[in-house]
Amino acid sequence: MNCYQKEDLIKMVEDAKQLTQKGKVADYIPALGEADPSTLAVAIYSGERECIYAGNIDEVFTLQSISKVLTLALALMDRGADYVFQRVGMEPTGDPFNSISKLESSVPSKPLNPMINAGALAVTDMLVGNTIEDKLERLLNFIRQLTGNDRITYNPVVAQSEFETADLNRSLCYFMRQHGIVESNVEQLINLYTKHCAIEMNCNDLAKLGFVIGNEGRDPNSDQNIIPLEIARIVKTFMVTCGMYNASGEFAIKVGIPAKSGVSGGILGSVPHGVGIGIYGPALDDKGNSIGGLRLLELIAKQSNLSIF
Ligand code: GLU
Repeated sequence: MNCYQKEDLIKMVEDAKQLTQKGKVADYIPALGEADPSTLAVAIYSGERECIYAGNIDEVFTLQSISKVLTLALALMDRGADYVFQRVGMEPTGDPFNSISKLESSVPSKPLNPMINAGALAVTDMLVGNTIEDKLERLLNFIRQLTGNDRITYNPVVAQSEFETADLNRSLCYFMRQHGIVESNVEQLINLYTKHCAIEMNCNDLAKLGFVIGNEGRDPNSDQNIIPLEIARIVKTFMVTCGMYNASGEFAIKVGIPAKSGVSGGILGSVPHGVGIGIYGPALDDKGNSIGGLRLLELIAKQSNLSIF
């Protein structure tokens, strides 16, 4: 993707935007219910110059489940793969992101992967730091490095809105505490989790972050390795196998890009050695993926032959 294709990108956004009428904004976190369902924006970053973009690019949105990619990378850097995968599995699940059923039926009881809520909560529990504030600040600094944006922070209104309504996530934590998978006090863990889910950015930031992950963890501007190569690979693999909820298989066939979506309507795309993609479209399909964002990624991937398969 180069700058001269901006016109094409604008056309693709117009095309995909028509689908947004068929989606629904997530409202189980009350503050997310206020998003405008007709919004659709995309930024693509190829490492050289500024992102090319189309749509309402100034809108900021919370990462929600996209933050799971970043907590996983940091926990792997903090604790190493052996420690992390003793507590969280590597296998996809056909269940919804917040399901508790496999936790009960797997022996030994451990979350199937770090991209579902149970796994992400266990990963959040692994982050190093003396207090919730320390852990959050370390995560924010990591994300500031990845995006090159020092102003990245979390949205306290969305965090509080989720904190007040996160009883299903609390139940996952209590179950895992009983089985020794998490150690923290549940309220503190939910406090940290809801704050990292509420970390905010725009599509440009998301595309830059996606580029660094696709580029094996290396920042093209400073040439610094922000994420070690093996960890960037683990993270991208989970994005392929589990990144788009229980639509990950269909997405791999139709789009073929390592990606992670969130219920805010954000989608992070990382094409290995290629481009980073940031999408925001809060109208979701029945699996929880941005309905316009999915179509847009399909069009972008086809046009530029981006599938990794
Ligand atoms: N904070 C959200 C939750 O735990 C994230 C879900 C998502 O984006 O998939 O319900």
